[in-house]
Amino acid sequence: MEFGGRHVLITGGGSGIGAALAERFAKECPRGITVVDIDFASAQETAFRVDGLAIEADVSRESEILRLIAEAEQRFGEIDVYFSNAGIPRPIGGLEVTDEGWQQQWNVHVMSHIWAMRALLPAMIKRGEGYLVNTASGAGLIMTPGAAPYTVTKHAALALAESYAVMYSHTGVRFSCLCPGLVETPLMLAVDDDPVGRAVRMGLDNHAMAPVDVADVAVRGLIEERFLIQTHPDDIIPAARLR
Ligand code: NAD
Repeated sequence: MEFGGRHVLITGGGSGIGAALAERFAKECPRGITVVDIDFASAQETAFRVDGLAIEADVSRESEILRLIAEAEQRFGEIDVYFSNAGIPRPIGGLEVTDEGWQQQWNVHVMSHIWAMRALLPAMIKRGEGYLVNTASGAGLIMTPGAAPYTVTKHAALALAESYAVMYSHTGVRFSCLCPGLVETPLMLAVDDDPVGRAVRMGLDNHAMAPVDVADVAVRGLIEERFLIQTHPDDIIPAARLR
């Protein structure tokens, strides 16, 4: 897979891994890069660096996904690569998590991918090409202590990508799932005030990667058309399922 001349869209592109992905994709000479984030100022900053389009949108709502796709396609034409990457660390915990908290994680980490696939897949199948990628996590492969909603929804994100890969790869559309280990971003620091969150972070600190390195592994993985893209060695996160 080559990205030259293509339209790449990244959600959660205002910060961390998403911002690094935008800059890494920019080196592949795409037709355009669309940077989506709920925080418009951060999306604008990234878009400015890659000469792209910034869109403010909340991916936890289907109507927003439909709107952002329409806006992006109006500017750069059909989306060739949709990188569904936005994520949230909270709520963490188990029994104390409310229905609302579960739903919030579910919408951002699972439904956002489903809504984007539903909107884009039919046209991609017609064209016989396209790339749908989501960012799950190492927490999609093994449990992250103290963070039940995050672990459950990231497992679901991987299972979703795997299901669609098996069902639709014969159409020419590609699917991949990025499973980073610990990465130095605001998301990880956001759980620092929680004892369990802090313990997980400190335990993994030696293995933390910079977003720029994660983005490099991710884009090389997509070029090689790998389904499961882990950014950490297998001895830290045991891989499973498709590779
Ligand atoms: P980050 O906080 O730096 O970036 C996440 C971005 O998503 C932010 O800019 C935020 O504003 C945006 N966002 C959040 N909710 C949104 C919404 N509803 N609509 C649109 N945008 C929204 O975090 P990051 O570490 O770069 O995370 C990127 C992805 O990587 C997430 O899916 C995260 O779960 C995953 N991940 C992160 C790590 C890590 O250690 N940092 C590890 C594994 C997986």
